[in-house]
Amino acid sequence: MKVLCFGVGQAGGNVLDALLRYEQRTNADYVVDAVAYNTASADLRGLDLVPEENRILFGADEVSGHGVGADNELAAELAERDSRQLLRGTDGAPTSTADAFLIFAGLGGGTGSGAAPVLAKHLNRIYEQPIYGVGILPAADEGALYSRNAARSLKAFVDVTDHVFAFDNGAWAESGEDVAQAHESMNEELVRRLGILFASGEVGESGSVGESVVDSSEVINTLRGGGISTIGYAASELPESDGGGFSISGLLGGGSSSSDELDSINRITTQTRKAVLGRLTLPCDVDSASRGLVVVSGPPEWLNRKAIERSRTWVEEQTGSMEVRGGDYPLPESNHVGVLVLLGDVSRSDRVAEVRSTGVEAERDRRQRDADADASEDKTEAVVDDRLDSLF
Ligand code: GDP
Repeated sequence: MKVLCFGVGQAGGNVLDALLRYEQRTNADYVVDAVAYNTASADLRGLDLVPEENRILFGADEVSGHGVGADNELAAELAERDSRQLLRGTDGAPTSTADAFLIFAGLGGGTGSGAAPVLAKHLNRIYEQPIYGVGILPAADEGALYSRNAARSLKAFVDVTDHVFAFDNGAWAESGEDVAQAHESMNEELVRRLGILFASGEVGESGSVGESVVDSSEVINTLRGGGISTIGYAASELPESDGGGFSISGLLGGGSSSSDELDSINRITTQTRKAVLGRLTLPCDVDSASRGLVVVSGPPEWLNRKAIERSRTWVEEQTGSMEVRGGDYPLPESNHVGVLVLLGDVSRSDRVAEVRSTGVEAERDRRQRDADADASEDKTEAVVDDRLDSLF
Protein backbone atom coordinates (compact mmCIF):
# COMPACT_ATOMS: atom_id res chain seq x y z
CA MET A 1 0.00 0.00 0.00
CA LYS A 2 1.56 3.26 -1.12
CA VAL A 3 1.30 6.14 1.31
CA LEU A 4 2.01 9.85 1.05
CA CYS A 5 3.17 10.95 4.49
CA PHE A 6 2.99 14.21 6.41
CA GLY A 7 4.63 14.85 9.77
CA VAL A 8 3.31 17.81 11.75
CA GLY A 9 5.16 19.20 14.79
CA GLN A 10 8.09 17.61 16.52
CA ALA A 11 6.64 14.17 17.28
CA GLY A 12 5.06 14.07 13.81
CA GLY A 13 8.38 14.83 12.14
CA ASN A 14 10.28 12.35 14.32
CA VAL A 15 7.90 9.49 13.59
CA LEU A 16 7.95 10.30 9.89
CA ASP A 17 11.75 10.26 9.92
CA ALA A 18 11.68 6.93 11.78
CA LEU A 19 9.28 5.46 9.19
CA LEU A 20 11.59 6.53 6.35
CA ARG A 21 14.55 4.95 8.17
CA TYR A 22 12.60 1.74 8.71
CA GLU A 23 11.55 1.66 5.05
CA GLN A 24 15.21 2.03 3.99
CA ARG A 25 16.41 -0.60 6.42
CA THR A 26 13.86 -3.16 5.26
CA ASN A 27 14.41 -2.47 1.53
CA ALA A 28 10.74 -1.70 1.14
CA ASP A 29 9.06 0.91 -0.98
CA TYR A 30 5.71 2.23 0.18
CA VAL A 31 6.28 5.90 1.04
CA VAL A 32 5.71 7.85 -2.18
CA ASP A 33 6.81 11.11 -0.58
CA ALA A 34 7.30 12.69 2.85
CA VAL A 35 6.54 16.26 3.93
CA ALA A 36 7.19 17.80 7.35
CA TYR A 37 5.51 20.90 8.81
CA ASN A 38 6.39 22.93 11.85
CA THR A 39 6.13 26.39 13.37
CA ALA A 40 9.59 25.86 14.92
CA SER A 41 12.46 26.04 12.44
CA ALA A 42 14.88 24.24 14.79
CA ASP A 43 12.64 21.14 14.79
CA LEU A 44 12.61 21.07 10.99
CA ARG A 45 16.42 21.35 10.91
CA GLY A 46 16.65 18.41 13.30
CA LEU A 47 15.04 16.03 10.82
CA ASP A 48 17.17 13.50 9.08
CA LEU A 49 15.55 11.80 6.08
CA VAL A 50 12.67 14.11 5.15
CA PRO A 51 14.02 15.93 2.06
CA GLU A 52 15.09 19.54 2.77
CA GLU A 53 12.73 20.92 0.13
CA ASN A 54 9.81 19.13 1.83
CA ARG A 55 10.28 20.84 5.21
CA ILE A 56 7.69 23.57 5.48
CA LEU A 57 7.74 26.28 8.12
CA PHE A 58 4.36 27.97 8.64
CA GLY A 59 3.05 30.73 10.90
CA ALA A 60 6.42 32.48 10.59
CA ASP A 61 4.77 35.92 10.32
CA GLU A 62 3.38 35.51 13.83
CA VAL A 63 5.84 33.32 15.71
CA SER A 64 9.02 33.91 13.66
CA GLY A 65 9.97 30.23 13.55
CA HIS A 66 10.04 29.89 17.34
CA GLY A 67 7.07 27.52 17.66
CA VAL A 68 3.78 27.90 19.53
CA GLY A 69 4.66 26.23 22.84
CA ALA A 70 1.71 24.08 23.86
CA ASP A 71 -0.85 26.46 22.34
CA ASN A 72 -2.69 24.17 19.92
CA GLU A 73 -5.41 26.76 19.28
CA LEU A 74 -2.80 29.17 17.98
CA ALA A 75 -1.32 26.37 15.84
CA ALA A 76 -4.75 25.58 14.37
CA GLU A 77 -5.27 29.27 13.61
CA LEU A 78 -1.88 29.63 11.95
CA ALA A 79 -2.41 26.45 9.91
CA GLU A 80 -5.78 27.75 8.74
CA ARG A 81 -4.29 31.11 7.80
CA ASP A 82 -1.37 29.45 5.98
CA SER A 83 -3.41 26.59 4.49
CA ARG A 84 -2.28 27.37 0.94
CA GLN A 85 1.29 27.12 2.07
CA LEU A 86 0.57 23.79 3.74
CA LEU A 87 -1.03 22.43 0.58
CA ARG A 88 2.05 23.43 -1.38
CA GLY A 89 3.67 20.47 0.35
CA THR A 90 1.91 18.19 -2.14
CA ASP A 91 2.97 20.19 -5.21
CA GLY A 92 5.94 18.04 -6.16
CA ALA A 93 4.51 14.82 -4.74
CA PRO A 94 3.24 11.99 -6.96
CA THR A 95 -0.15 12.17 -5.26
CA SER A 96 -1.93 9.94 -7.77
CA THR A 97 0.32 7.00 -6.94
CA ALA A 98 -0.68 7.08 -3.26
CA ASP A 99 -3.38 4.68 -2.01
CA ALA A 100 -3.76 6.79 1.13
CA PHE A 101 -2.44 9.87 2.89
CA LEU A 102 -1.01 9.63 6.38
CA ILE A 103 -0.64 12.50 8.86
CA PHE A 104 1.55 11.99 11.94
CA ALA A 105 1.27 14.21 15.03
CA GLY A 106 1.72 14.30 18.78
CA LEU A 107 -1.75 15.32 19.99
CA GLY A 108 -0.72 16.68 23.40
CA GLY A 109 1.63 19.46 22.25
CA GLY A 110 1.01 22.60 20.22
CA THR A 111 1.90 22.51 16.53
CA GLY A 112 0.98 18.91 15.67
CA SER A 113 -2.03 18.90 17.94
CA GLY A 114 -3.51 22.04 16.39
CA ALA A 115 -2.34 21.90 12.78
CA ALA A 116 -2.66 18.19 11.92
CA PRO A 117 -6.49 18.19 11.91
CA VAL A 118 -6.48 21.44 9.88
CA LEU A 119 -4.13 19.89 7.31
CA ALA A 120 -6.35 16.79 7.15
CA LYS A 121 -9.41 18.93 6.56
CA HIS A 122 -7.79 20.75 3.64
CA LEU A 123 -6.31 17.62 2.04
CA ASN A 124 -9.72 16.00 2.34
CA ARG A 125 -11.28 18.74 0.25
CA ILE A 126 -8.90 18.16 -2.62
CA TYR A 127 -7.93 14.51 -2.74
CA GLU A 128 -9.99 11.37 -3.22
CA GLN A 129 -7.74 9.07 -1.25
CA PRO A 130 -8.50 8.17 2.34
CA ILE A 131 -6.68 10.30 4.88
CA TYR A 132 -5.43 8.57 8.00
CA GLY A 133 -4.11 10.23 11.12
CA VAL A 134 -1.41 8.74 13.31
CA GLY A 135 -2.13 10.37 16.67
CA ILE A 136 0.22 10.11 19.63
CA LEU A 137 -1.42 10.43 23.04
CA PRO A 138 0.58 11.96 25.89
CA ALA A 139 1.47 9.94 28.99
CA ALA A 140 -0.53 10.88 32.09
CA ASP A 141 2.57 12.35 33.78
CA GLU A 142 2.96 14.90 30.99
CA GLY A 143 0.30 17.00 32.70
CA ALA A 144 -3.33 18.03 32.41
CA LEU A 145 -2.74 20.62 29.68
CA TYR A 146 -1.35 17.93 27.36
CA SER A 147 -4.37 15.73 28.08
CA ARG A 148 -6.71 18.62 27.36
CA ASN A 149 -4.93 19.36 24.09
CA ALA A 150 -4.94 15.70 23.14
CA ALA A 151 -8.63 15.22 23.91
CA ARG A 152 -9.67 18.21 21.82
CA SER A 153 -7.31 17.41 18.99
CA LEU A 154 -8.26 13.73 18.88
CA LYS A 155 -11.91 14.67 18.55
CA ALA A 156 -11.14 16.97 15.61
CA PHE A 157 -8.70 14.48 14.06
CA VAL A 158 -11.26 11.64 14.14
CA ASP A 159 -13.88 13.96 12.62
CA VAL A 160 -11.79 15.05 9.65
CA THR A 161 -9.85 11.87 8.84
CA ASP A 162 -10.94 8.45 7.63
CA HIS A 163 -9.36 6.83 10.69
CA VAL A 164 -6.81 7.57 13.38
CA PHE A 165 -4.11 5.05 14.27
CA ALA A 166 -3.56 5.79 17.95
CA PHE A 167 -0.32 5.35 19.85
CA ASP A 168 -0.28 5.86 23.60
CA ASN A 169 3.03 7.15 24.97
CA GLY A 170 1.76 6.28 28.44
CA ALA A 171 1.48 2.59 27.63
CA TRP A 172 4.94 2.44 26.07
CA ALA A 173 7.04 4.53 28.46
CA GLU A 174 9.64 2.44 30.31
CA SER A 175 10.76 3.63 33.71
CA GLY A 176 14.32 4.93 33.89
CA GLU A 177 14.56 5.89 30.23
CA ASP A 178 15.31 9.50 29.40
CA VAL A 179 12.67 11.20 27.27
CA ALA A 180 14.58 11.28 23.95
CA GLN A 181 15.58 7.65 24.33
CA ALA A 182 12.02 6.70 25.22
CA HIS A 183 10.64 8.51 22.17
CA GLU A 184 13.14 6.81 19.91
CA SER A 185 12.19 3.33 21.06
CA MET A 186 8.46 4.13 20.95
CA ASN A 187 8.87 5.44 17.41
CA GLU A 188 10.60 2.19 16.44
CA GLU A 189 7.67 0.17 17.77
CA LEU A 190 5.15 2.33 15.98
CA VAL A 191 6.89 2.40 12.59
CA ARG A 192 7.57 -1.32 12.64
CA ARG A 193 3.84 -1.91 12.87
CA LEU A 194 2.93 0.70 10.27
CA GLY A 195 5.78 -0.44 8.02
CA ILE A 196 4.60 -4.07 8.03
CA LEU A 197 1.04 -2.97 7.39
CA PHE A 198 1.97 -0.86 4.37
CA ALA A 199 4.70 -3.12 3.00
CA SER A 200 2.53 -6.22 2.96
CA GLY A 201 1.19 -6.57 -0.55
CA GLU A 202 3.90 -4.37 -2.04
CA VAL A 203 6.53 -6.15 -4.12
CA GLY A 204 9.82 -5.36 -2.42
CA GLU A 205 13.34 -6.01 -3.68
CA SER A 206 12.92 -9.69 -2.99
CA GLY A 207 10.18 -9.66 -5.66
CA SER A 208 8.12 -12.03 -3.56
CA VAL A 209 4.34 -11.68 -3.28
CA GLY A 210 2.29 -13.76 -0.87
CA GLU A 211 -0.30 -16.42 -1.58
CA SER A 212 -3.05 -14.36 -0.03
CA VAL A 213 -1.54 -10.92 0.06
CA VAL A 214 -2.97 -8.07 2.03
CA ASP A 215 -3.58 -5.52 -0.68
CA SER A 216 -4.42 -1.90 -0.02
CA SER A 217 -8.16 -2.52 -0.28
CA GLU A 218 -7.99 -4.92 2.70
CA VAL A 219 -6.41 -2.21 4.83
CA ILE A 220 -8.79 0.45 3.56
CA ASN A 221 -11.82 -1.76 4.20
CA THR A 222 -10.65 -2.56 7.71
CA LEU A 223 -10.46 1.17 8.40
CA ARG A 224 -13.69 2.01 6.58
CA GLY A 225 -16.23 3.98 8.56
CA GLY A 226 -13.71 5.92 10.62
CA GLY A 227 -12.80 5.83 14.29
CA ILE A 228 -9.70 4.96 16.25
CA SER A 229 -7.60 1.88 15.69
CA THR A 230 -4.92 0.02 17.57
CA ILE A 231 -2.21 -2.35 16.39
CA GLY A 232 -0.65 -5.36 18.08
CA TYR A 233 2.45 -7.20 16.94
CA ALA A 234 4.47 -10.18 18.13
CA ALA A 235 7.26 -12.17 16.51
CA SER A 236 9.10 -15.37 17.18
CA GLU A 237 12.68 -15.97 16.10
CA LEU A 238 13.26 -18.99 13.90
CA PRO A 239 16.03 -21.43 14.64
CA GLU A 240 18.70 -21.51 11.93
CA SER A 241 18.92 -24.67 9.86
CA ASP A 242 22.23 -26.46 9.15
CA GLY A 243 22.44 -25.32 5.59
CA GLY A 244 21.71 -21.67 6.52
CA GLY A 245 18.32 -20.09 6.09
CA PHE A 246 15.31 -20.84 8.22
CA SER A 247 13.43 -23.52 6.33
CA ILE A 248 11.22 -25.84 8.33
CA SER A 249 12.53 -29.07 6.84
CA GLY A 250 16.09 -27.87 7.42
CA LEU A 251 15.22 -27.24 11.04
CA LEU A 252 13.71 -30.67 11.50
CA GLY A 253 16.40 -32.46 9.51
CA GLY A 254 13.98 -33.14 6.67
CA GLY A 255 11.37 -34.33 9.17
CA SER A 256 7.80 -35.21 8.39
CA SER A 257 5.57 -32.62 6.89
CA SER A 258 2.97 -33.03 9.63
CA SER A 259 5.44 -31.95 12.34
CA ASP A 260 6.60 -29.11 10.07
CA GLU A 261 3.04 -28.00 9.76
CA LEU A 262 2.40 -28.32 13.45
CA ASP A 263 5.39 -26.16 14.34
CA SER A 264 4.38 -23.51 11.88
CA ILE A 265 0.75 -23.53 13.05
CA ASN A 266 1.78 -23.30 16.70
CA ARG A 267 4.12 -20.42 16.08
CA ILE A 268 1.57 -18.42 14.13
CA THR A 269 -1.35 -18.98 16.48
CA THR A 270 0.80 -18.27 19.56
CA GLN A 271 2.13 -15.03 18.08
CA THR A 272 -1.42 -14.00 17.18
CA ARG A 273 -2.49 -14.36 20.80
CA LYS A 274 0.58 -12.46 21.98
CA ALA A 275 -0.07 -9.68 19.47
CA VAL A 276 -3.63 -9.13 20.68
CA LEU A 277 -3.22 -9.86 24.39
CA GLY A 278 0.17 -8.11 24.70
CA ARG A 279 0.87 -4.41 24.41
CA LEU A 280 -1.27 -2.71 21.77
CA THR A 281 -0.36 0.71 20.38
CA LEU A 282 -3.46 1.88 22.24
CA PRO A 283 -4.67 -0.26 25.16
CA CYS A 284 -8.37 -0.94 24.66
CA ASP A 285 -11.14 -3.47 25.11
CA VAL A 286 -10.47 -5.83 22.25
CA ASP A 287 -14.11 -6.84 22.03
CA SER A 288 -15.04 -3.24 21.26
CA ALA A 289 -13.30 -3.36 17.84
CA SER A 290 -15.58 -3.32 14.81
CA ARG A 291 -13.16 -4.87 12.33
CA GLY A 292 -9.78 -6.59 12.22
CA LEU A 293 -6.91 -7.49 9.95
CA VAL A 294 -4.30 -10.19 10.61
CA VAL A 295 -1.02 -10.06 8.66
CA VAL A 296 1.39 -12.97 9.09
CA SER A 297 4.94 -12.30 7.92
CA GLY A 298 8.00 -14.51 7.58
CA PRO A 299 9.80 -16.86 5.19
CA PRO A 300 7.23 -18.24 2.69
CA GLU A 301 7.67 -21.85 3.84
CA TRP A 302 6.52 -20.84 7.32
CA LEU A 303 3.35 -19.07 6.20
CA ASN A 304 0.88 -21.84 6.80
CA ARG A 305 -2.55 -21.12 5.34
CA LYS A 306 -4.39 -23.17 7.93
CA ALA A 307 -2.67 -21.26 10.74
CA ILE A 308 -3.48 -17.90 9.20
CA GLU A 309 -7.11 -18.95 8.92
CA ARG A 310 -7.12 -20.21 12.49
CA SER A 311 -5.61 -16.94 13.70
CA ARG A 312 -8.16 -14.95 11.79
CA THR A 313 -10.99 -16.96 13.34
CA TRP A 314 -9.49 -16.50 16.81
CA VAL A 315 -9.41 -12.71 16.33
CA GLU A 316 -13.05 -12.87 15.21
CA GLU A 317 -13.91 -14.65 18.46
CA GLN A 318 -11.99 -12.15 20.56
CA THR A 319 -13.50 -9.11 18.91
CA GLY A 320 -16.95 -10.56 18.32
CA SER A 321 -16.61 -9.07 14.84
CA MET A 322 -17.52 -10.99 11.73
CA GLU A 323 -15.28 -8.74 9.70
CA VAL A 324 -11.73 -9.90 10.29
CA ARG A 325 -9.48 -10.20 7.28
CA GLY A 326 -6.28 -12.19 7.05
CA GLY A 327 -3.31 -12.52 4.75
CA ASP A 328 0.37 -13.17 4.48
CA TYR A 329 3.47 -11.13 3.85
CA PRO A 330 6.39 -13.29 2.70
CA LEU A 331 9.84 -12.17 3.75
CA PRO A 332 12.27 -14.77 2.33
CA GLU A 333 15.28 -13.36 4.17
CA SER A 334 13.62 -12.96 7.55
CA ASN A 335 14.54 -15.05 10.59
CA HIS A 336 11.20 -14.32 12.27
CA VAL A 337 7.58 -15.25 11.98
CA GLY A 338 5.62 -12.14 12.93
CA VAL A 339 1.92 -11.50 13.38
CA LEU A 340 0.41 -8.06 13.13
CA VAL A 341 -3.18 -7.48 14.17
CA LEU A 342 -4.94 -4.25 13.27
CA LEU A 343 -8.15 -3.62 15.22
CA GLY A 344 -10.30 -0.96 13.60
CA ASP A 345 -12.85 1.37 15.17
CA VAL A 346 -12.35 0.46 18.82
CA SER A 347 -15.02 2.08 20.94
CA ARG A 348 -13.75 1.44 24.48
CA SER A 349 -10.32 2.45 25.69
CA ASP A 350 -9.65 3.36 29.32
CA ARG A 351 -6.70 5.46 28.18
CA VAL A 352 -8.79 7.55 25.80
CA ALA A 353 -11.40 7.94 28.55
CA GLU A 354 -8.68 8.99 31.03
CA VAL A 355 -7.16 11.54 28.63
CA ARG A 356 -10.62 12.92 28.07
CA SER A 357 -11.61 13.17 31.73
CA THR A 358 -8.29 14.79 32.68
CA GLY A 359 -8.81 17.16 29.76
CA VAL A 360 -12.35 18.01 30.85
CA GLU A 361 -11.10 18.77 34.35
CA ALA A 362 -8.30 20.98 33.03
CA GLU A 363 -10.80 22.81 30.82
CA ARG A 364 -13.16 23.30 33.77
CA ASP A 365 -10.31 24.72 35.85
CA ARG A 366 -9.43 27.07 33.04
CA ARG A 367 -13.03 28.29 32.73
CA GLN A 368 -13.24 28.71 36.47
CA ARG A 369 -10.11 30.84 36.44
CA ASP A 370 -11.53 32.92 33.59
CA ALA A 371 -14.80 33.30 35.46
CA ASP A 372 -12.99 34.36 38.63
CA ALA A 373 -11.09 36.93 36.64
CA ASP A 374 -14.26 38.24 35.08
CA ALA A 375 -16.88 38.92 37.75
CA SER A 376 -19.63 39.36 35.14
CA GLU A 377 -19.28 35.75 33.96
CA ASP A 378 -21.80 33.12 35.11
CA LYS A 379 -19.66 31.08 37.51
CA THR A 380 -22.19 28.31 37.97
CA GLU A 381 -22.10 27.47 34.28
CA ALA A 382 -18.33 27.49 34.27
CA VAL A 383 -18.17 24.97 37.09
CA VAL A 384 -20.78 22.45 36.01
CA ASP A 385 -20.19 22.50 32.29
CA ASP A 386 -18.09 19.53 31.25
CA ARG A 387 -17.94 20.25 27.55
CA LEU A 388 -14.65 19.78 25.85
CA ASP A 389 -14.99 21.33 22.44
CA SER A 390 -13.34 19.97 19.39
CA LEU A 391 -10.58 22.26 18.18
CA PHE A 392 -12.82 23.43 15.38
P1 GDP B 1 4.68 20.14 18.82
O1 GDP B 1 6.03 20.20 18.16
O2 GDP B 1 4.24 21.45 19.36
O3 GDP B 1 3.64 19.52 17.93
O4 GDP B 1 4.80 19.22 20.10
P2 GDP B 1 5.32 17.75 20.20
O5 GDP B 1 5.26 17.07 18.90
O6 GDP B 1 6.63 17.75 20.91
O7 GDP B 1 4.16 17.14 21.09
C1 GDP B 1 4.27 16.86 22.41
C2 GDP B 1 3.80 15.46 22.64
O8 GDP B 1 4.46 14.60 21.72
C3 GDP B 1 4.16 14.95 24.01
O9 GDP B 1 3.13 14.06 24.43
C4 GDP B 1 5.48 14.22 23.79
O10 GDP B 1 5.69 13.19 24.72
C5 GDP B 1 5.26 13.65 22.42
N1 GDP B 1 6.47 13.46 21.62
C6 GDP B 1 7.39 14.38 21.23
N2 GDP B 1 8.30 13.82 20.43
C7 GDP B 1 7.96 12.50 20.31
C8 GDP B 1 8.50 11.40 19.61
O11 GDP B 1 9.51 11.48 18.90
N3 GDP B 1 7.84 10.20 19.74
C9 GDP B 1 6.74 10.06 20.53
N4 GDP B 1 6.17 8.85 20.60
N5 GDP B 1 6.19 11.09 21.18
C10 GDP B 1 6.80 12.29 21.07
